[in-house]
Amino acid sequence: MNTSPQHPTDPRLDRLRGAAAPRRHNARTIAALTTNPGCARRAVLDTAGVDKDALARHVGFPAPFGQSQFAITRGNAFEAQLKADGCAELLQLLRETLGLDLAEAAYTDLEDVGGVDTQEVRHRHSVQKLTHAADDSGTLFDHPLLRLPVAGEHVYLEPDLVAFAHEGVFHVVEIKSFAVIDGQADPDKVAAAAIQSAVYVLALRRLLGRDDVVSPDVVLVCPADFSNRPVATKVDVRKQLIILEHQLRRLTRVEALLDLLPPGLTLDLEPDERGHPTRSTAELTAALGTLDARYAPGCLSSCELGFFCRDEAGGRTDALGTSVREQLGGVETVAEALAIADGTWDVPDEQAEAAARLRASAPVYADALTGRAPAPTAVPALSVVPALPPAAPLPVVAP
Ligand code: SF4
Repeated sequence: MNTSPQHPTDPRLDRLRGAAAPRRHNARTIAALTTNPGCARRAVLDTAGVDKDALARHVGFPAPFGQSQFAITRGNAFEAQLKADGCAELLQLLRETLGLDLAEAAYTDLEDVGGVDTQEVRHRHSVQKLTHAADDSGTLFDHPLLRLPVAGEHVYLEPDLVAFAHEGVFHVVEIKSFAVIDGQADPDKVAAAAIQSAVYVLALRRLLGRDDVVSPDVVLVCPADFSNRPVATKVDVRKQLIILEHQLRRLTRVEALLDLLPPGLTLDLEPDERGHPTRSTAELTAALGTLDARYAPGCLSSCELGFFCRDEAGGRTDALGTSVREQLGGVETVAEALAIADGTWDVPDEQAEAAARLRASAPVYADALTGRAPAPTAVPALSVVPALPPAAPLPVVAP
């Protein structure tokens, strides 16, 4: 694996990361970044390539992320099976899923650049091959190295995907190892795969400089039931593309975020010769605290620092979610909100709107707790809505 720095132009990012090799952005990290675009902490750490998982473990809040070794091995075997013999099995699925009248397709592995493996060279090679793929037959491109501007920085993406070009139009093919059982897949996993595929569609469109040559219908391939038999389905990611482009536009430029940090800030774990961190937990916790976070409940399932940030945000209304944050604008802590609700807080003008909501909601909750019918209220009660719409289970096409 190439471990060259992603952003050699800004030494502050290298200093922040320390001696560790940079973590690459991938579709999952970009998708997660766009679900919480207001979080400067995540934006800076991801751009610097900091190993957030190691950091979370060292500060005492390990994240239950990642696949088991068994799942990784199984996923790799499934992918190898599909890609064997020039993606023969995959091509069969594509024929049926996309309705192609195509006897055979060429296979090009873009990972092979004559032994040169810098990201820049591999990306240029991908650009050169993909921009000349407007043939009328079919070509499967494996391991393209894509690039996407994120928060003012170019990040490289190396998807485990195949870009399938047919008659000048590309389809992103995403191979996942989660099972489709009785024609249904886990909706959370399908939703995650859809937003990640949308990242690839967007990056491929940017690479080619045109939107119309990359289909918003991606092909998701998963194992069926408890076997290795693949099933495929077309997934329309138009909605995810709209969300993604909107959120990417909202991200603050990393340069501006770095300007706000204390000079010399580093999150280096300073590992000893056995790889064990030597830096004190207290010191690292303090360093992390200088990066502004914007915790929301969704962080627990999308960011390695979720448990750390939740603990840090304890007692703050922000921690209750985007919707509560918006409805309680100006009320920063839960204690303050409770005091406003029971009338023991002197409400300043800027909290008047939130106070009206809280005071209208308080009797409703009190009645609910005592089992009485709630009194009508003129102000809408607080509600919590998800930041992103969940995806429904999908029908699949079996070969
Ligand atoms: S867990 Fe923390 S660092 Fe990660 S996105 Fe949420 S607030 Fe930001």
